[in-house]
Amino acid sequence: MKRGVSPNRGNKDNHKKEEQSGAHTSPFIVIFTDLDGTLLDHNSYGWEEAEPALRLCRESLIPLILVSSKTRAEIRALHQELGLSSPFISENGGGIFFPKEGKHPYPSDAVLSHGVRKWSIGPAHDFLVKALGEIRDEQGWKIRGFSEMTPEEISSLTGLDLASARLASQREYDEPFVFMEKGVRNMDTLHHAAGQKGLRISRGGRFYHLHGKSDKGEAMGRLVAWYRTYHPLLRTIALGDSPVDFSMLKRADYPVLIRSSHQYPELKKVIPRLKVTQETGPRGWNAAVLDILNDETSIGIG
Ligand SMILES: [Mg+2]
Repeated sequence: MKRGVSPNRGNKDNHKKEEQSGAHTSPFIVIFTDLDGTLLDHNSYGWEEAEPALRLCRESLIPLILVSSKTRAEIRALHQELGLSSPFISENGGGIFFPKEGKHPYPSDAVLSHGVRKWSIGPAHDFLVKALGEIRDEQGWKIRGFSEMTPEEISSLTGLDLASARLASQREYDEPFVFMEKGVRNMDTLHHAAGQKGLRISRGGRFYHLHGKSDKGEAMGRLVAWYRTYHPLLRTIALGDSPVDFSMLKRADYPVLIRSSHQYPELKKVIPRLKVTQETGPRGWNAAVLDILNDETSIGIG
């Protein structure tokens, strides 16, 4: 960074001063990021090309919040690999997890679950499995849910190795499913049936998903409110590459669309401050984060 400025480290010192003087001087920065196609390469799932910006985040004590459709078990593995201590958001905003090694005390209403404190936003997985069974019976469609599949079956459908398929199967807030028969079907009927149960159906790359009505943006909003209790002057950066991330980008002070094979020209009209990267995946992520953090004027420091 210019003149070696580290925003949140500086902010930590300033924060003590703030407490003494009652004045707020510099913003505390938090980054929210999607994984596949954003921090992780779409094909290789590698993040190494983002290392310079990741290092700067570590050195500057900037929390990096992983936000994904992946399960808690899948995200936790990457969270540890990256040496993070910040909270993370699973299953498209269904759950927020506060690891033990976190820098801030976890919220008093976060529930202990398998050694980690969590906030549940989405409905419980048991409820989703039951609801999917009811929808299948009502509609007479041949639907097969993730919870009925073996790790071997998930592996063959997703291309994940068996260990990763086991992590992907540990679902808490979202039930993926496939149709077992080809042919034309009325999706409106399916959406209506899910809506009647207070649920939503969305289409992913390989599966349909039955889940609650929360999204990544709502989960981000909960964490922003929590961080603000410690750092009133908060600025957020959000990065994503697909429509499921747009709710998060809309809330960010610095929204970043990572370039992909799809174009979203309308998004710039909805979010005029949107930055679109020149490069895809972690290479685009790295350039965008370094640019924003180095821009002392826009970030309000220096
Ligand atoms: Mg993505």
